Amino acid sequence: MRALAMLLALVATPALAQTPPPYSGQAWGQFSAPTPGATHIIGGTGLGCIAGAVALPPDGPGWQAVRISRNRHWGSPELVRFLQNFAGQAQRQGFPALWIGDMGQPRGGPMPYGHASHQIGLDVDIWLDLNPKPPSLPAAREAIDVPSLVLPDETAVDPARFTPAHAALIRLAASQPGVDRIFVNHGIKRSLCQMFPGADWLRRVRPWRGHDSHMHIRLRCPAGQADCRDQPPVPAGDGCDASLAWWLSEDARRPAPRAPGPPPRMPALCAGVFGGR
Ligand SMILES: [Zn+2]
Repeated sequence: MRALAMLLALVATPALAQTPPPYSGQAWGQFSAPTPGATHIIGGTGLGCIAGAVALPPDGPGWQAVRISRNRHWGSPELVRFLQNFAGQAQRQGFPALWIGDMGQPRGGPMPYGHASHQIGLDVDIWLDLNPKPPSLPAAREAIDVPSLVLPDETAVDPARFTPAHAALIRLAASQPGVDRIFVNHGIKRSLCQMFPGADWLRRVRPWRGHDSHMHIRLRCPAGQADCRDQPPVPAGDGCDASLAWWLSEDARRPAPRAPGPPPRMPALCAGVFGGR
């Protein structure tokens, strides 16, 4: 009997390894460090994880990471390099240091609060705040307050707050190699459509709710990451059309109903990341 039980345990082990880890922000939010080793991106930005994530330093040429205590400045090496390049370019063009908000958790995955995506080390929120940023200790950047740049009815930007420099920063981000899309409030997109009719980079600037004081940059899956799943590509055209007008409709203003059915299933490969040391 004992031998049989051991044999069954042996046979069962490979199957257990394929059991997906829980889809739980609490569970994935508990990790304080990434798994070591090569970077492995698994799944998509709304349902996935990352092994071998790297951290963005709290300060660097042209950037200051904010809300360090959340421990969400982890991502793929490509995302960290992207931010270093982008912040450096912005600095050379005369922008103040950029406030870098949440990237991902040390092992990616769902978060206990704050985001549905940001799960595979390819997303980052950058605050749209162009006030001068003198050097400061990271601890002094825990409580930040950036006002909305959009009118209360969300038809356009607030001209008292949104400047051509804000538009130039979004354009610079949308023109970087590797960027899949950038989410901004639909009111910001509407104003960009008026300012830059027909511009090619506008296609990658996508309207969403919220996002009225930060932009959310998403990179494409890096080359060689065979288990990384990109979203469908952004549609052709600049997006300054009926799909943009929809955001002002009654439908769009109603909160989206929760999807019925069982909770999402994490990719089975994430079991190794979840259980890794
Ligand atoms: Zn975001």
